[in-house]
Amino acid sequence: MKAMLFIDGSWLYHVRPYLLNLCEDPDFELDYRTLPKIVQDQLGQVADLKIDLVRTYYFGTIAINKLGHDNIRERQFYEMLAKRCNYNTEIYEHDFKNKEVLGRKENCLEVGLTTTALSLAFQNSSFDIACILAGDIDYLPLIKQLRAIGKRVVLVDVKGNNGFHPVHHRLMDEINLFDYPSIHLDDHVSKMHYHRTEAIRKCDSCGREEATIFTSDWFYCNNCREEYKLLRSKQIVEGV
Ligand SMILES: [Zn+2]
Repeated sequence: MKAMLFIDGSWLYHVRPYLLNLCEDPDFELDYRTLPKIVQDQLGQVADLKIDLVRTYYFGTIAINKLGHDNIRERQFYEMLAKRCNYNTEIYEHDFKNKEVLGRKENCLEVGLTTTALSLAFQNSSFDIACILAGDIDYLPLIKQLRAIGKRVVLVDVKGNNGFHPVHHRLMDEINLFDYPSIHLDDHVSKMHYHRTEAIRKCDSCGREEATIFTSDWFYCNNCREEYKLLRSKQIVEGV
């Protein structure tokens, strides 16, 4: 059986501190390369089927024109997902400059995930099972539509604790929403353990060497990033 994993990156980012807290290691980071493998193995167990998780889609947002904010870390993170983890990434810009004009939070993420999952579902032999890593109620119509056309759906979530329960109760309470019991990431956090290691790298702009945990193809030192940040905030204020 072919499965695809659809990750709501904004929701995963929201539960990330909770998952990191479950481990005692302060340098712990989620291993995004292992995540699809964990989902494939667990789904194989709960569904009692041989599962081939053929693709992982990650939907994220990136802040642009945000005063004093440099989105270099976000860009490096998405580059890492695409290049090192083989994810298909769909990243939507969250434009802070025009936020006031629009008058509401611009976030295409939920619609993006839904559209991609549905359009793939209607292509022959794309997948049999959709694994949805999310917790928002916005995905209810998607889940129902997928099941209406004969696809199977499983939720990948976290159980949470101490009042932190990030999955909308209707996703858990409604009957006939999912084909298998949810896969809880809290139960597998030890397998998602990625220890960050520092390395000396040369800045692509000034050539200075600096210790860093960044693993992207390009690298800018702290100084150059600060200078760039300053320049950008001036440009935003001046409306460039
Ligand atoms: Zn530099």
